[in-house]
Amino acid sequence: MAEMTRVDVSAPTDDDLQLSDELTASDGAYDSQLDAIFESVARSHPETDFTVLQQAFRIAEFYHRPQSRASGEPYITHPLAVAQIVADLGMNEPTVVAALLHDTVEDTAYTLERMREDFSPEVASLVDGVTKLDKSLYGATAKAETIRKIIVAMFQDIRVVVIKLADRLHNMRTISSLRPDKQNRIAKETLDIYAPLAHRLGMNTVKWELEDLAFSTLQPKIYNQIVQQVAAEQPARERILQEIIPVALQSLESKGIKAKVYGRPKHYYSIYQKMVVRGRDFTDIFDLLGIRVLVESETDCYLALAAIHSLWLPLPGRFKDYIVNPKYSTYQSLHTTVVGPQGKPVEFQIRTREMHRNAEYGVAAHWKYKKNPTGKHGSGRLDPMDLLWVKRLSQWQSEEADPSVFLDYLTTDLASKEVMVFSPVSDLYFLPQGATPVDFAYTIHTEVGHHCIGARINGKLVRLDTALNDGDVCEILTTRSADAGPSRDWLEFVKSPRARQKINQFFSKERRDLSIEAGKDALAKQLRHSGLSLQRILTLPYLTAVASKLRCPDVPALYAAIGDGRIGAQRVVEQLIAVEGGKETAVEESFEDRPLFSSSRRDLERSSSGIEVEGDPNVLVKLARCCTPVPGDDIIGFVTRSQGVSVHRRDCRNVQDLLNTPERILHVAWTSNATANYLVTISIEGLDRMGLLADVTAALTEDKVSIVSAQVQVGKDRTSHMTLSFEIPDPSFLTQVIKKVRAVREVTEVRRVNA
Ligand code: MN
Repeated sequence: MAEMTRVDVSAPTDDDLQLSDELTASDGAYDSQLDAIFESVARSHPETDFTVLQQAFRIAEFYHRPQSRASGEPYITHPLAVAQIVADLGMNEPTVVAALLHDTVEDTAYTLERMREDFSPEVASLVDGVTKLDKSLYGATAKAETIRKIIVAMFQDIRVVVIKLADRLHNMRTISSLRPDKQNRIAKETLDIYAPLAHRLGMNTVKWELEDLAFSTLQPKIYNQIVQQVAAEQPARERILQEIIPVALQSLESKGIKAKVYGRPKHYYSIYQKMVVRGRDFTDIFDLLGIRVLVESETDCYLALAAIHSLWLPLPGRFKDYIVNPKYSTYQSLHTTVVGPQGKPVEFQIRTREMHRNAEYGVAAHWKYKKNPTGKHGSGRLDPMDLLWVKRLSQWQSEEADPSVFLDYLTTDLASKEVMVFSPVSDLYFLPQGATPVDFAYTIHTEVGHHCIGARINGKLVRLDTALNDGDVCEILTTRSADAGPSRDWLEFVKSPRARQKINQFFSKERRDLSIEAGKDALAKQLRHSGLSLQRILTLPYLTAVASKLRCPDVPALYAAIGDGRIGAQRVVEQLIAVEGGKETAVEESFEDRPLFSSSRRDLERSSSGIEVEGDPNVLVKLARCCTPVPGDDIIGFVTRSQGVSVHRRDCRNVQDLLNTPERILHVAWTSNATANYLVTISIEGLDRMGLLADVTAALTEDKVSIVSAQVQVGKDRTSHMTLSFEIPDPSFLTQVIKKVRAVREVTEVRRVNA
């Protein structure tokens, strides 16, 4: 209802609606428009009862009567136009009813409750799905929340989006009556969200029109230029088509294939995109002729392909079989490009009539015709979760609380070209072009992403930054380790916004934990410095009071603010004293001072890491994952958050940073009877050959070494680089293991990896 101007007339009441006088006041004025809608509905659904449609029109017309469009026309012209679009897409009666009523709840006194009674819960839930959220309740995020609401409604019923797209299409057709700034905003949103949404749902006729309308709004000069150029080229194009089409038809007929062959119309926005995005010349783009061949059966598609390939030479690498691998689960067709007359490339799209309807109407075709691309019969109900893209969105939506972040996922996802990747159990996933196994892992599940340590593509171990290709089978290797996490390096190559977001989230949580810890330390130090009692002052009620005074949502946030230096520790101490009731009482009991975290330490279990910590045998000890020390290594301890001591090799690159906080460094030593397993990483170089990795792993497993992860990369010069991580029970094995691996044929170098 973006372009409605409100005429302030008191809203009609329920009583007004009782009698036919009011309702029939405008009867006759819209008869021809209603007839056109009825006719269209009857074409796809001959048994439809039109009294319900008639009733929906009367109610919509009555309630919208005080309103008019920005163009000055009565408002009802808009719902009528939307209903026409929805009917032409082949949608059934409840959907067309909902289209007629789609703006009543948002803009008039008519309520969802009334709609449920007057029509059905089905109609009411469709209208509810497209009704905007109240700006006054949702504020700045209203727009993001509204789009999310439509998407969520789509998870239940795809028809919600079909109505929304029809609504947007009519608003775009009539956009010229709006203020220029509004035109731009709406056209931009159309290009960012609605046209790609139509594309994902296979509703290409809607997508093309939305794109061309938005394009002409945003770039009128360029649009007109392209329109003129297309018109100028048209006669030449027509001549070549007249050369090709009869030849193709004759050949198909001689093979007994019934077919329709015709030139494919060009869409202005797609021409523009090819020029701008791919930097191609208008003449180049226009040189490529598009021809469509519609046949009766799937078998005929392949026979027609063979016939065309025998007439003209196919260009290598240009054949695509979307019948076997449908795009976005709905689009099916064969594509091939051949060298046509005068050496001009000609692209043929070959498909059955049913495939063609699916290509034009996408998910909407489900309601119009008996069969849909999933092979199920159209009972009027299509399970949205049959569409993988919808399923993926649904999962993200349920995991992402912030509507703006979700909108960001949605927009990026809609904007990206996709590759199809299969899981080892043949589930199909769509990922952005250039996506890596890490993107794939995060698409499956956040935890799979966090625990990912390696991947196989088509059975081969690959580096995690390898780009996936269409049709790849990708298997993610995960670790069971509880403290597994992503690597910062992943941010350099991940392509999906979701993977990026999840990795960042992981690290910001870790960073926050560190800030909180630093804040606690700083505050304790400052209190001791002031000679105050920690026990007396650092109570939860006092801290909570100070936190709220300093505008921190909770105590951890207060600590984090101190840790980050946003709030001075001294300032917090002053506030604490004020809350506590004055410095005198606070100082009095300072002899009770004791370390802040002693209680939590007492609970820690004795570690089995084989490490002794100076002064405190009960502290929890963890071997750092960055450098994975083994007994014999020169080591130092570092007091982490509240999770005990982490032990690093002294030559670990992280130690340099840690030395900046000397108060947290502890002396640690290996115990003589260490029994734990140690994680070791080695890097191996060699000349690539069949079975090299198998021989290397065989050498390792001989010594009962259990391999945790393996990465293999083969360079252009045929050198193979492997990185293997494994656990060994005794570090003295390491020398032996390295020796064995070195003995493997074609291995040139083996070394332990230093962090
Ligand atoms: Mn509307």
